[in-house]
Amino acid sequence: QAKADGRGSLRFFSPEIMLRARERLSLEAEMRRALERGEFRVHYQPQLHLYERAVTGLEALVRWQHPERGLIAPGAFIALAEESGLIVPLGNWVLREVGRQMRAWLDEGRAPGYVAVNLSALQLGSEGFVDSVQAVLRENGLAPGRLELEITESCLMADRSRAIATLETLRGLGVRLSIDDFGTGYSSMSYLQHLRVHRLKIDMSFVRDLETNPGNVSIVTAIIALGHSLELDIVAEGVETPEQLARLQRLGCDLIQGYLIGRPVPAAEALDLRFAPGHPLAGLLSV
Ligand code: C2E
Ligand code: MG
Ligand code: MG
Ligand code: MG
Repeated sequence: QAKADGRGSLRFFSPEIMLRARERLSLEAEMRRALERGEFRVHYQPQLHLYERAVTGLEALVRWQHPERGLIAPGAFIALAEESGLIVPLGNWVLREVGRQMRAWLDEGRAPGYVAVNLSALQLGSEGFVDSVQAVLRENGLAPGRLELEITESCLMADRSRAIATLETLRGLGVRLSIDDFGTGYSSMSYLQHLRVHRLKIDMSFVRDLETNPGNVSIVTAIIALGHSLELDIVAEGVETPEQLARLQRLGCDLIQGYLIGRPVPAAEALDLRFAPGHPLAGLLSV
């Protein structure tokens, strides 16, 4: 068939695909070098607790400070890092950097309550992951509750029972767990059945058109009711407008995260959250 219809084989060898393969290889090699050269950065985005009226924690989000291309968002490299396995050393670097930064904040006498770190499946399944988490906590003198791990459905896909056992060990140590992008996977409910976590993060796709899509209001209402009945805190991601904030507040959401509160920023700016007079949150923060 491929011989008879040359298009199939041509497509396979098309310059476009060759180029893409070469680009991937070079991007992968470049990422390896970047890790050695210290080109990755961690930015931090605030999570505002609506009842405590304070920023109780931050989410750590990795960026690549590329010498020519500038700051690159994780959307452009995380998937390839996962495919190539580079996510393991990269993710462990993020964890160590977060531990170091938390220690520095504590030494300054001004630290967030916790930092949430995104976990990839490969990293969770990697040899000695629990030990490396413990080492970061010990070396920086951090209480385990200072660290939150954000997991997604993919974390439980490969070797489910082993992943759950690892996460349970971490929870037993006092590390907090949250489910990221909740509601988007095929088996969101099934994690809740198999794994005890501290919080659910409602995916931003449900938050985005909360005001125009009544279906999303129903979904968010249901997630909040479900989470609360399991005694979990609910975090809404991607909150951009005062209308979304007001709606989430009425629905009883516990925490919000999004550009309305603050974008991810370098550590030096992460604790200086101030709202200008007139900002919908100006009156909310007690600190
Ligand atoms: P995520 O963990 O679901 O993080 C939320 C993403 O939404 C972040 O994108 C954040 O900057 C963005 N965001 C926050 N508020 C708003 C908003 O109001 N509007 C909009 N439009 N976006 C908002 P970012 O930083 O580009 O990260 C994308 C994804 O990359 C993350 O999604 C996470 O899955 C992954 N990621 C980031 N850092 C790491 C890491 O250290 N390790 C791993 N394994 N994955 C990471
Ligand atoms: Mg996350
Ligand atoms: Mg998310
Ligand atoms: Mg995500």
